[in-house]
Amino acid sequence: MIKVPMLLNEAKFLGLKFMAIRWVLTVIAIIIFSWISAKIIKDEDLPGEVLTHPGLHINREACMGCTLCAKNYPALFEIKGKKADIKAYGQKSFDLEHLQSTIEACPVHAIEYFEG
Ligand code: SF4
Repeated sequence: MIKVPMLLNEAKFLGLKFMAIRWVLTVIAIIIFSWISAKIIKDEDLPGEVLTHPGLHINREACMGCTLCAKNYPALFEIKGKKADIKAYGQKSFDLEHLQSTIEACPVHAIEYFEG
């Protein structure tokens, strides 16, 4: 975190050279740690809830990645990072019967749909 008021205090009490060196090193450290974090943390490591269509939800913690939903309803589901995900569906309506049969086919009941 880079706080501008802190920079002014540093410059006043510790000198402009110290403030400039510390600021440059902080920016370099932020860039390095951001790069390392991006390499270490994958999409599947992020919290397990996905909600891209109102009322439609996949519990990614429960999903075992069997790919059944993506095969049953490829227009709506896809596999990302070995787990099911909901495709961006925009404002289009989907086939409720088709969705219901896909929900029932999920072996771990990870798909939920609430009409709203
Ligand atoms: S059918 Fe269920 S367990 Fe299989 S990938 Fe889809 S959500 Fe996951």
